[in-house]
Amino acid sequence: MKLETIAIHAGNEIESNRAVIQPITLSTTFERGEDGGYPGGFMYTRAGNPNRQSLENVLAGLEGGSDACAFSSGNAAGSAIFQSLDHGCHILAPTDMYHGMRNLLNVVFEGIIEVSYINLADLQEVENAIRPETCLIWIETPSNPLLSITDIAAIVDLAKKHNIRVACDNTFATPVFQQPLALGADLVMHATTKYLGGHSDVLGGALVTRSKDLFWEKIRNVQELSGAVPSPFDCYMTIRGIKTLPYRMRGHAENAMNIAGYLLKHPRVEAVFYPGLESHAGFATAGKQMSGFSGMLSFLVKGGKEEALRIVNATTIFIQASSLGGVESLIEHRASVEGPHSKTPQNLIRVSVGLENIHDLLDDLGSALQVGLK
Ligand SMILES: *Cc1c(COP(=O)(O)O)cnc(C)c1O
Repeated sequence: MKLETIAIHAGNEIESNRAVIQPITLSTTFERGEDGGYPGGFMYTRAGNPNRQSLENVLAGLEGGSDACAFSSGNAAGSAIFQSLDHGCHILAPTDMYHGMRNLLNVVFEGIIEVSYINLADLQEVENAIRPETCLIWIETPSNPLLSITDIAAIVDLAKKHNIRVACDNTFATPVFQQPLALGADLVMHATTKYLGGHSDVLGGALVTRSKDLFWEKIRNVQELSGAVPSPFDCYMTIRGIKTLPYRMRGHAENAMNIAGYLLKHPRVEAVFYPGLESHAGFATAGKQMSGFSGMLSFLVKGGKEEALRIVNATTIFIQASSLGGVESLIEHRASVEGPHSKTPQNLIRVSVGLENIHDLLDDLGSALQVGLK
């Protein structure tokens, strides 16, 4: 099956009553058979539930993996990987790692996991940072908020030589535009909260694995025993979002490309970060490993924090809010979201381009950029 078909059918288990759409199974427990077994295949919802199984099926199918684990948030998914690492393990992560994940490592795993934050675009820097106890390289591409691109295949090559596992946060690209497992990564992580759910109304996370190895068994155990699992309703909502993912992503990418081109020529804009632009540092690598450039972009306005804040407060269609990947366009001053330690430029604005009509979006941005003028 191709992606569009997988998205619609792989997460939809039709039951004996022949309902076309799988119902939500709220039952937390499942009846035993005479022999004490579980003929329905389920025992207790923390360990497994029909809706979660369907969500995991469609996620594994979309990423071309052999199995998937769904979690109650993207951070819980990432956490399951970190919890499954051996003690004393050292990991390499990008300097511009998603700040929530970075905080997770720095706060919850402080003293348990040692992390070196490096520039993954510089392969020499990666090689130099590898130690005997390095056990994981964490990739996030495109990254947040500068949309930096990491060469997944090149990192995998390097990691293989040193027997290091590679995990890739594929939230921004989605499996529609980028398939890290096919490029050799061992694990893919998603905040399904974003494009997969796609409507800003359900939190969730996922891991997809290339092989069902011993490490994957540990992750399954963390999922079941730590219990950060999505509810049946959350699974249903995420599956519902996924059905239209391939079509939504085309719209997000088309609108984002248009907006990036518009901003590039705008006199009030200093720089635009979008991997689909030839001027972007990661353009060549993105073209090699992505089949589309997704819907996230950021730009620097001429001026500083004040000018940037004035613009994000002047839009009427773009809503000033965090998060991304929904059908509605969002805009934000990223440095204020990331807090006082943020290295994000004060004049940077991040945009999650939605599926509204492109002319309305361009008009809205155009007027907001005018309001910013003194
Ligand atoms: C949102 C996000 C996360 C975390 O997901 P939550 O569902 O908020 O826990 C991780 N990585 C990226 C790239 C994200 O955008």
